[in-house]
Amino acid sequence: MRIGIIGAGQLGRMLALAGYPLGQRFVFLDHSADAPGGQVGQIICGEFGDRERLAELASRVDILTYDVENVPAEAVEEVARAKPFQPPPAALAAGQDRLHEKRLFERLGIPTPEFRTVDDRMQLDFASAAVGLPAVLKTRRLGYDGRGQHVLRTTADIDVAWNKLGGVPLILEQFVPFEREVSIIGVRSTTGEVAHYPLTENTHADGILVRSRAPCDAPPLEHTARDYLERILRHFDYAGVLTLELFVAGGRLLANEIAPRVHNSGHWTIEGAITSQFENHVRAILGLPLGDTRPLGHSAMLNIIGTMPKLERVLRVRGAHYHDYGKSPRPGRKLGHVTVVAPTPEQRDAALEELAACLA
Ligand code: AMP
Repeated sequence: MRIGIIGAGQLGRMLALAGYPLGQRFVFLDHSADAPGGQVGQIICGEFGDRERLAELASRVDILTYDVENVPAEAVEEVARAKPFQPPPAALAAGQDRLHEKRLFERLGIPTPEFRTVDDRMQLDFASAAVGLPAVLKTRRLGYDGRGQHVLRTTADIDVAWNKLGGVPLILEQFVPFEREVSIIGVRSTTGEVAHYPLTENTHADGILVRSRAPCDAPPLEHTARDYLERILRHFDYAGVLTLELFVAGGRLLANEIAPRVHNSGHWTIEGAITSQFENHVRAILGLPLGDTRPLGHSAMLNIIGTMPKLERVLRVRGAHYHDYGKSPRPGRKLGHVTVVAPTPEQRDAALEELAACLA
């Protein structure tokens, strides 16, 4: 089969790398001819919402998927009427708007942090009184990696936050004093078969994922997280990989957001699980039997942000795997990642610190 991927970022590249051994072929749509997917497939150059380029991509493949969330949902709905498209455009649209996402969680009985919509300055006053401070003001759309957010600690921050973000639809969320952040990655095939990866613990800095460790030892939470994820998968009659990001606060899970795609917190599955999230996404959208999601040991993943470390130095760490996305370095840009897989959590954590020193 020929698979068209909207977006040729590192996620698209890793999808293609996982799909080639299964005999699949890939074509991308991206606004940059230098995007990482270009190393492993042809890129049709165009904006994600460009209907002509989308139609060209559709005409050259058997099925469409995406590696980015900022694809205009209306353009996708049109192309999805002419060609199989997975995950469903409705899931993509829900993930693009924090308000729709939160309302979806509420409808499905999934707990979330307290929140209010904010469309003008007065509503921000009402919302901060209702939600309480500290709180986080977020743009409803186009926020990622901590962009489009401002933390309000005291009432003096209200004006600062409004000046920074006001003018577009916003939501104000209670600031969650979480013990940790976790994600659950699941996959559902067009046949309805479902599988989950173990719960992953994630650490962020300035809103960007820095490191993930899996499995994170939390069996009752994992059970609940799986249940929440399955509600979302069923709701959308979903096919593909879906990620649910959660806060653990007071021993309870609160849903933060969904990513209706393969996810950075699942990169460890390439070497750390029997079947990677990327291969399982390809299997799922094609209706093939899903691969075993069991972990092969104890894994950790570190993102390479801004500058690449020395390859030789990283490879000297026992159990380390190096992934260079081939992007040009820029502060704050995800350029690659390293993964370590070890027989015990202690050995994994020791190797993780060695890797962190290589990246420092
Ligand atoms: P997001 O783009 O919503 O995933 O936010 C990026 C990161 O900011 C999260 O992974 C958290 O570390 C932090 N964050 C976002 N929302 C909240 C919140 N309501 N309370 C505490 N931290 C938050």
